[in-house]
Amino acid sequence: MQTPDTPMTRLSLVVPVFNEQDSIDAFIAECDHHLAGLKGLSLEYVFVNDGSTDDTLERLLAQVDADPRVTVVDLSRNFGKEAALSAGINAAQGDAVVPMDVDLQDPPALIPVLIERWREGFEVVLARRSDRGQDAWLKRTSASAFYRIHNLISEPSIPPNVGDFRLMDRVVVDALRDLPESRRFMKGLFAWVGFRTAIVDYQRPARHAGQSKFSGWRLWNLALEGLTSFSTAPLRVWTYLGLTVSMLSIAFALFIVFKVIVNGIDVPGYASVIVALTLLGGLQMMGIGILGEYLGRTYLESKRRPVYLVRRIHRRNH
Ligand code: UDP
Ligand code: MG
Repeated sequence: MQTPDTPMTRLSLVVPVFNEQDSIDAFIAECDHHLAGLKGLSLEYVFVNDGSTDDTLERLLAQVDADPRVTVVDLSRNFGKEAALSAGINAAQGDAVVPMDVDLQDPPALIPVLIERWREGFEVVLARRSDRGQDAWLKRTSASAFYRIHNLISEPSIPPNVGDFRLMDRVVVDALRDLPESRRFMKGLFAWVGFRTAIVDYQRPARHAGQSKFSGWRLWNLALEGLTSFSTAPLRVWTYLGLTVSMLSIAFALFIVFKVIVNGIDVPGYASVIVALTLLGGLQMMGIGILGEYLGRTYLESKRRPVYLVRRIHRRNH
């Protein structure tokens, strides 16, 4: 239990927003409803406007005028949720930081529970979806396939069904800020920094308003980003595949020589030649594609471009 003389702790809610004009007011109202009454806790809202083209920025600025707890980091264009999250985490000043979606799919009612575990001494408190009933079948199965493949080939593994919604202590946030890479797969980075971790389960509600910003293609690219950022297994597997195929073809060559010696000259089948040719061609192209995937990432990383650009940070006293 909190007593009146417990020192104030500051909690930052970091919220990336992209075309979410209808969710912002409801989000703040809902968070205040569950959090404003908590003793010993002061709130900070850090919204990151990720290049919205609707009235999102106007709504956010109205909140900045009305409420000194609100900060708005206005990015110069849409950089994507991962970059926007980095921007928000870098701007947050709290003793603990909670990244949240503005669509109320990360329920504010859970935050007091996260805080409780944090006060018990955990530096990271993960919120895990106890079911994926809200998602379509395809999203559910592809998500579980992603976690399985990722965790098979990557170190460290990321806990399945845990999104960006979590509470992080200041030490964790500072560690994240020190990671140098500019291609940011946040789930992977969150897992990479480690620290003492607790898990809290919750039911994920449906979106409050508007549409999901993640199409199948965007999710596919996010999955590729995750796999290639944290594993080199797709590169190395070609060595073994190549080795196996070469051994098989040497064995086959020996077999043919043997057959010619025993049976005399034979006219080989056209079909088997074409199959072998196209199969090997396909494998080689895939191998080159995977090399390209990594080379492209190395190239982009080597430019050392910033993760995002800020047009302006809006705060009440600035
Ligand atoms: N978002 C963002 N930039 C983007 C796409 C999404 O800042 O390019 C924000 C979005 O406004 C929301 C959060 O990321 O607050 C999660 O997006 P969404 O709800 O569409 O994802 P889903 O819940 O469907 O995975
Ligand atoms: Mg959502």
